[in-house]
Amino acid sequence: MTVSPESWVDVRPEGLYVRPGGFYVDPARAVDRAVVTHGHADHARPGHGAVLATAQTLRIIAARLAAPASAQSLAHGERVRIGDVTVWLSPAGHVLGSAQVVLEHAGTRVVVSGDYKRQEDPTCAGFEPVACDVFVTEATFGLPVFRHPPAEAEIGRLLRSLHLFPERAHLVGVYALGKCQRVIALLRRAGYDRPIYLHGALQGLCALYEELGVPLGPLLPAMGMAKADLEGQIVLCPPSALADRWSRRLPDPLIVAASGWMRVRQRAKQRGVELPLVISDHADWTELLQTMEDTGAPEIWVTHGREEALVFAALQRGRKARALAMVGREEDEAE
Ligand SMILES: [Zn+2]
Ligand SMILES: [Zn+2]
Repeated sequence: MTVSPESWVDVRPEGLYVRPGGFYVDPARAVDRAVVTHGHADHARPGHGAVLATAQTLRIIAARLAAPASAQSLAHGERVRIGDVTVWLSPAGHVLGSAQVVLEHAGTRVVVSGDYKRQEDPTCAGFEPVACDVFVTEATFGLPVFRHPPAEAEIGRLLRSLHLFPERAHLVGVYALGKCQRVIALLRRAGYDRPIYLHGALQGLCALYEELGVPLGPLLPAMGMAKADLEGQIVLCPPSALADRWSRRLPDPLIVAASGWMRVRQRAKQRGVELPLVISDHADWTELLQTMEDTGAPEIWVTHGREEALVFAALQRGRKARALAMVGREEDEAE
């Protein structure tokens, strides 16, 4: 007998609760049992009793927070039974280790995608759509205005600027987990083989990515370099460091930021970004709609972001759709 997904997946203040398994997916607060899609802070919270995730995500959690009391890793496609639920993971293409959580119970399948994107990314496994009855999606860039150009083209703009202004350090604001390593890997793929300089806050996760098999080429700490040595170099820092006194040590820095939000010119301008690069680890509007099609799900639940537009688009396409109004999710590409 099949039962409706609403009858076994609850929206609780802590997050999505899978009742017949007794666990949460990406809970916003510490809980006894959690399945975690990826290592970003708004999905991986500290203090859970037991955590199930990919091996890479568990390493990232241990590096950023602390190892949970009990951790179980699951490879993509490997199945595990928790209570009365079969759980498996499928790549989400968002950051290293990111996974969609596939939940099967009483003849129905719910897929919780966490954050995801469809553009190819050299630092993580690509998104694999899973046919399901309910697809739970983010909507960070869930408005038709958000279309991300190919990341390679944006990296090309950075390299052209470096060529045009060879005396200026190019200071690029990047989110520490995922965006940083993707920008580096894309630069390497474009043939840029000089050292790339890092703010101290980015070094740990870059080292972990390399340890987990993602080559990033020569990286050096920006700290302690003579000003003249950084002329014409690429320096990466967290978005928050773009405007602070840290950047004053650089020779005539040209401020760059890599984020899906750079599509919004006003946002770039407010932050003093001279060269906005539209590089995002989240699906854009086209990818959100395409993914809805690819999963074939008759029902869409939207967790966070611009829920209204995506719910409306799903209804227009003959699906059932609802916004889950989840608390505790931030935009991890926000500055
Ligand atoms: Zn994320
Ligand atoms: Zn997120």
